[in-house]
Amino acid sequence: MTNSKQDQLEQLKQHFGRRVHEQARSIVNGWSTLQDVHWNEVWFDEFSQSAAKLHKLADRYKFTTLAAASQQLSELLVQEDGHKAPKSDVLEKLNRCISDIADACSRVNDDLPVKQMSAGRKPVYLCFKDPSMASSLAEQMSHFGIPTQCYDDSGEFEKSILYRLPSAIIVDKDFADDGIALVTKLQGELRAPIPAVFYSANPPTIEERLAVVRANGIAFFDGQLDFGMLIEQLMSIYSLRNEPPYRVLVVDDSRSQSTYAEKTLNFAGIFTRAVNQPLDVIDVMDSFHPDAILMDMYMPGCMGPELAQVIRQQAKYDAIPILYLSAESDIEKQLDAVSRGGDDFLTKPVPKDVLIATVINRCRRHRGLREQMIRDSLTGLVDHNNTLEALKNDLKRMASENKPVSFAMIDIDRFKLVNDTYGHGMGDRVIHALALYLRQRFRMTDTIGRYGGEEFAVILPDTDEATAYNLLNEVRDSFAKLVHRHKDTDITVTFSCGVASSQPDEEFSELAQRADSALYAAKRNGRNQVCMASDAE
Ligand code: GH3
Ligand code: MG
Ligand code: MG
Repeated sequence: MTNSKQDQLEQLKQHFGRRVHEQARSIVNGWSTLQDVHWNEVWFDEFSQSAAKLHKLADRYKFTTLAAASQQLSELLVQEDGHKAPKSDVLEKLNRCISDIADACSRVNDDLPVKQMSAGRKPVYLCFKDPSMASSLAEQMSHFGIPTQCYDDSGEFEKSILYRLPSAIIVDKDFADDGIALVTKLQGELRAPIPAVFYSANPPTIEERLAVVRANGIAFFDGQLDFGMLIEQLMSIYSLRNEPPYRVLVVDDSRSQSTYAEKTLNFAGIFTRAVNQPLDVIDVMDSFHPDAILMDMYMPGCMGPELAQVIRQQAKYDAIPILYLSAESDIEKQLDAVSRGGDDFLTKPVPKDVLIATVINRCRRHRGLREQMIRDSLTGLVDHNNTLEALKNDLKRMASENKPVSFAMIDIDRFKLVNDTYGHGMGDRVIHALALYLRQRFRMTDTIGRYGGEEFAVILPDTDEATAYNLLNEVRDSFAKLVHRHKDTDITVTFSCGVASSQPDEEFSELAQRADSALYAAKRNGRNQVCMASDAE
């Protein structure tokens, strides 16, 4: 291919990147709605068409990974129909394709600097009474790759919305006399409401808060705008994450009963496994990692509540939800069962919708709690121990495919000075900003951890040292330009980073040690730089 042809293709790719991205988003989102709508003909037809369309687009503009994943998805779907939900193993295959699509999509931006990522994103419209507030917000958002459009006239704003839908709007309550009323009216005219964030210079009244809820407001900020919180709201709109479906283990000595429960749950996209020999339960749990267990009360050789107690005796399963499913209608016996390690009691026959809703509720609560335990409260990132745990797992997984894993350690430069000069609160905001920055810059398969106070770590599977270096160096460069506002002072902060890429048979601790030495070299060489382990050794 000649150079200019290559350039043209690149330009087309950028231009159509957004359409491809939007199509991929509709697939990932469509898959997650299965939990609510359950497998049915209308959903199935729409979903299959979406997959075919993505394949066509991705293929035409040479997004090869996306094209391959969407083709595989289409091929799997052709073998299904809208009347019957597929079995768990097929659901798992489908889900793998969806994950690949979400992942490939976040890789589309890999080579782009943060500022250019905005090319693939829909803009956010900003409407403020004070135009200088809008423009300084726009500048900050550009550092996060969020394109913006500022308005100081309601007529222009209304016209734009009808012409091109933004990804979100940020509206000052005092914009054009009554910003909330304006948005309420506009939302009513649209097919689907746009996420709206509101701002008020003064603390809002309860009536105003209610009006904001009715205008589809996702957040209401007042006074000094907390930029970190705002970005967090907006990034959730852009992020393309395929939350893994829930996994439920069905324990029942009767094969027909367990098949019925499995089938029902599969309609909501839930992965299932059945155990018909109660004593096999622990082995299957260790390999299947369920989010909840649905258990028969009466089984030969072992009663449900006894088995529940056996499961609970193991520390790693002491919090897993256990739901009994039985024809037992004696309240006393039900209470006894629940008191002995159960969470819920469902009396057969259970309407399908009730079974699905109860199971999903339990799974959601359980996952939420587990998430909270491994995530750091200030940054929402994975904590130190779980970062190392993820590194261990990724090394094992990638070694089997002969692929490298890169590990990056980041440490904010002269952070003590930030705390000492501007206070601990400002220090916290800088940490928060860096966490957000890292979160939006890396792929969903990358793990970002808060390694220590002002230290972060990034795990990049299937990435060599040079690629990791380039990515981190670009992040370093753009983060250094980000302005953090403290009262009337603007400050900038830099970080140093060490990256190391795994060698065959290398232990996770050795890899982490080499990244740490590279970080130390970056500090020694003058800070605000990335150093590769291969150069530092
Ligand atoms: P260097 O460039 O060598 O890394 O210098 P430094 O000042 O960043 O390094 P040092 O390790 O001496 O200081 C880190 C400081 O970070 C000390 C600690 O009080 C502060 N810190 C750690 N965790 C937090 C936090 O969660 N919030 C705030 N505000 N400060 C923190
Ligand atoms: Mg430190
Ligand atoms: Mg430091």
